[in-house]
Amino acid sequence: MKRSGPPKRKTPLKAKTELKRKTPMPRGNGFKKTGNLERNSSLRAQSKKRERENRERHAMKNAMFPDGRPVCIVPWCGQWADDLHEPLTRARQGSITDPDNAVPTCRGHNSELTEEPAWGYELELLVHSWDKRSSAQIAEARREALARWHAEHLVEAS
Ligand SMILES: [Zn+2]
Repeated sequence: MKRSGPPKRKTPLKAKTELKRKTPMPRGNGFKKTGNLERNSSLRAQSKKRERENRERHAMKNAMFPDGRPVCIVPWCGQWADDLHEPLTRARQGSITDPDNAVPTCRGHNSELTEEPAWGYELELLVHSWDKRSSAQIAEARREALARWHAEHLVEAS
């Protein structure tokens, strides 16, 4: 059957009485600015510096992936990426706004990498704190390591 346009409903939308709450929404401080649903009044969630870094990181992400969502960088994965991972971690003073220190990963590989598997270092997806190379040099080495992996594993693919 050919479809033209959205499918038509057989039954009309239910009357809005269905959407009525059984219990009324709490009145009073639940939605006031000073209430406990707003978190920005007394506690700062982020420092000014971190706020600025996160804005820069967001812009970097958009510049790195203008076509949208990339796939996980782990070559045997193939899933959509959920996160940006820093090969030189924040804990090791890695930058979170340097595109050479950012790789897309799926949620699973992002958490696997926190356990520092050997393959992470082999593919330059993890960098030791004492590594003296620049992030650009590491990014270049990463591209080579990934290309090597593809050459070794996917020769027969076509
Ligand atoms: Zn993955």
